[in-house]
Amino acid sequence: MKTLFQKIYDGEIPADIIHRDELCCAFPDISPQAPTHILITPRHPIPRIGGATSDDSATLGHLLLVAAEVARKVGIEESGYRLVINNGPHGGETVPHLHVHLLGGRQLTWPPG
Ligand code: IMP
Repeated sequence: MKTLFQKIYDGEIPADIIHRDELCCAFPDISPQAPTHILITPRHPIPRIGGATSDDSATLGHLLLVAAEVARKVGIEESGYRLVINNGPHGGETVPHLHVHLLGGRQLTWPPG
């Protein structure tokens, strides 16, 4: 069965796709936590970063490079941004298909809540 984010990649659930290639896609989070809140997610699901293996190395590296490219594309390179991966219940993970959150467009605080 396809995950939610696979359905978005395949166009079965609508999203404003900002970037798509053979390994991943990027689209706005449905519940944005910052003026810019974009998810970058692999085409083939890795449930979470804690379950990734060395076979996933190229995909994981690609996700980070695409996140930086998307940040440039949407104009938050200069002001700055944050990349987040939530893992497991205490990490705040709710969708078990690995994704990188790209957050920006406002001053982010540290530590996160
Ligand atoms: P997590 O909590 O790190 O697993 O992040 C899951 C994210 O997916 C949350 O920020 C949700 O708002 C987001 N989300 C859930 N469903 C959709 C959707 O259909 N489109 C876009 N984002 C979604």
